[in-house]
Amino acid sequence: MDFSWGTEHRDFRTQVQSFISDNWGSNPDNHEERDDRALAYTKALAEHGWLTMAWPKEYGGRAATHWEQMIFAEESARNGAPTGGQGADRVGPTLMIHGTEEQKREHLPKIANAEVFWCQGYSEPGSGSDLASLQTRAIRDGDEFVINGQKIWTSGAQHADWIHILTRTDPEAPKHRGVSYFMLKMDTPGISIRPITQIHDATGFNETFFEDVRVPAANMIGDENRGWYVAATALDFERSGINRMAGVLGPYARMMEHAPKADSAAKGRRIVDTEPHRLALADTTIEIEVARYLGYRVTWMQSKGLVPNQESSMSKMFGSELQQRMARRGINMLGLFGGLRPESKHAPLGGEFCRYYMSSVSLTIAAGTSEIQRNIIATRGLGLPRG
Ligand SMILES: Cc1cc2nc3c(=O)[nH]c(=O)nc-3n(C[C@H](O)[C@H](O)[C@H](O)COP(=O)(O)OP(=O)(O)OC[C@H]3O[C@@H](n4cnc5c(N)ncnc54)[C@H](O)[C@@H]3O)c2cc1C
Repeated sequence: MDFSWGTEHRDFRTQVQSFISDNWGSNPDNHEERDDRALAYTKALAEHGWLTMAWPKEYGGRAATHWEQMIFAEESARNGAPTGGQGADRVGPTLMIHGTEEQKREHLPKIANAEVFWCQGYSEPGSGSDLASLQTRAIRDGDEFVINGQKIWTSGAQHADWIHILTRTDPEAPKHRGVSYFMLKMDTPGISIRPITQIHDATGFNETFFEDVRVPAANMIGDENRGWYVAATALDFERSGINRMAGVLGPYARMMEHAPKADSAAKGRRIVDTEPHRLALADTTIEIEVARYLGYRVTWMQSKGLVPNQESSMSKMFGSELQQRMARRGINMLGLFGGLRPESKHAPLGGEFCRYYMSSVSLTIAAGTSEIQRNIIATRGLGLPRG
């Protein structure tokens, strides 16, 4: 079977590669931290029409195909380049399905123009995998709701203009049925955040507190007490990207370039002369191909109007676990020096693998843990009974 790309897709990939190389370069250290450079790049993407390329034209997109969108995401992840974050990849697409016309008119153009950035308030200190058990309360008061509670692990809250959150609006209903979905401006009185420092010293996420926060009822997405189904849509968008697999491509390419030149921990021998390392590189090469086709399958389903479910879980789980294996293998190949942080002048490859090793730990937790993805594959994919 010939899986190769046609000319049109090859040309598009070349265009994307040139754009990234001219405007971003390659940045192994980018972990979706939103510094000035990332912001400027995101604006450039918006001006180029690529931030929301797969959106319909009426909402500020270019109606690009799923394959073009996937090529763009793959090349961006390969180079650690930002892709616009949650507004572009899940809030906008979710609003297109569940939002009112007024909500679409208000929010979609601002996302497409990179005028606003979003964060996601789902997880709580006692609710992560079992998200439907969330306790943040929203109580109706006329045309408004009053929100009290706490969210945690809110990525990018420190830079976000808006937050999309899940709240409990009916505590008497079964847990999936009493949840409503809101959009709030981050500067609404009563919202405060506290940063959480991660193992690799980044402060990418936060605790977010809500104290008597008033939000107009018009900011609810979907129907009252039916927010769970809106969240399911947003989670499908969040999990279905090729980015988890493609994030391995940059570190893999740099290791393949480094390995024939550099000493392994066993002194005097090149990394590629050491059998376990050679085999590890061969294994990674095979696994990248597997991950690539799991990702392409999700794109293919989307292109046919099918809704990937366990297929997204397979791709998400295999891609994030592959990144962890690549990081671990890289550290082993670089020997003790591989553990040096980027600040050290002795760190091989600028300390990339040390940082990658630490940051990749979170990949099998974010957007639903590997155990949860396996449960989805077992129950929805294989039809096995719930445990
Ligand atoms: C980098 C990163 C960014 C994040 N960004 C955001 C964000 O922006 N917004 C947001 O709302 N959240 C965010 N999260 C939170 C993330 O969604 C949760 O951490 C995740 O859903 C797991 O929840 P938990 O941490 O409460 O772990 P728990 O649910 O308490 O799980 C603990 C352990 O038990 C296992 N487990 C739980 N239930 C089951 C089960 N039924 N079967 C088998 N095993 C089970 C889990 O797999 C895990 O190993 C982020 C997390 C990370 C790591």
